[in-house]
Amino acid sequence: MIKRKTLPIIANLTDGILVFDKQRNLSLINPRAQEFLRVNEKEIIGKPVLELAGFGNLKRLIKILGKKIKSAPMQELTVAENLVLEVSAVPLFEQKKKIGTLVILRDITREKRIEQMKTEFVSITAHQLPTPLSAIKWTLRMLLDGDLGEVTKEQKKFIEKTYRSNERMIGLINDLLNITQIEEGRHVYKKDFYDIEKICRDIISSYKEEIKRKKINFKFIAAKKLPEVNIDKEKIELAIRNIIENAIRYTSSKGKMIVFLQCKEKGKNKKEIKVSVYDSGVGIPTDQQFRVFTKFFRGANIIRMETEGTGLGLFIAKNIIEAHKGRIWFESQEGKGSTFCFTLPC
Ligand code: ADP
Repeated sequence: MIKRKTLPIIANLTDGILVFDKQRNLSLINPRAQEFLRVNEKEIIGKPVLELAGFGNLKRLIKILGKKIKSAPMQELTVAENLVLEVSAVPLFEQKKKIGTLVILRDITREKRIEQMKTEFVSITAHQLPTPLSAIKWTLRMLLDGDLGEVTKEQKKFIEKTYRSNERMIGLINDLLNITQIEEGRHVYKKDFYDIEKICRDIISSYKEEIKRKKINFKFIAAKKLPEVNIDKEKIELAIRNIIENAIRYTSSKGKMIVFLQCKEKGKNKKEIKVSVYDSGVGIPTDQQFRVFTKFFRGANIIRMETEGTGLGLFIAKNIIEAHKGRIWFESQEGKGSTFCFTLPC
């Protein structure tokens, strides 16, 4: 199946390669893949996939690929504590006919270790910083309230500025704490039944001043008699806050915003609440839209605007919504506006 000239190349590749033929028999395995999977070519070549599970680490690989060796996007396979592989499977075609499947194994141990170190670093920082920051906050508060003696108008202005910066830093650290909890699987959810309309109204009312200051034409539309939803109130509030705050922040003065709540049938006896947040703001460049829910993403257009932000809000929102078995998505056009939507089952 594979031409003579390409065999030495495959044999010397630093990636592991396996080829299964149309009947799902193993027709090729290069030395690197044998090393990764702790198998010997002689024992397994030509064998059908169902017989391979007993050899070395092949059982784990086949669990990922399925007995039918379907083509699959990249997936991770932890073979041992010091070996993590990225597995991808692609179909092989000859004159438009499928003749087998190519499986590629890439060693990503080093990347995974660096990623883990980064997470640990952020986690330690995020756990240590709140204490000194809250000490600063309370001292500044005391100064502002005059508990430590009179301060002049000029001094007060500076202290207020410092207080706001400190509050921003506390917000950022809270985001980082949420992120580490999400990544370590420790984001605990305490659920109960709540009125989502009230939650949205309360959040919107906390941004009243900002909406007024920017002269945003704001509309809130909620369908009648929305059912209650079983949610972790604090976490859902955080997700909604992140979405609404973005809409306000990335909409220029005199722009438009609509928050829309509706209830939709979802199959038999199942309903879901859909929350849509529309804004007529700066939008997200098309070529960057695939990164919107990833950590630390900030659009090139808004970086130019030099607005505040960390690129963590939507990553957190997505994790929270999905932990509630909801979906989150958006539509956006640069210069025209964006609509962020999410659902929650009820
Ligand atoms: P940030 O703290 O930067 O707002 P987010 O994770 O909340 O972080 O959002 C990530 C990025 O997505 C933003 O920096 C911005 O580029 C883009 N974005 C999110 N919401 C909007 C919106 N309503 N309008 C335009 N761009 C948005």
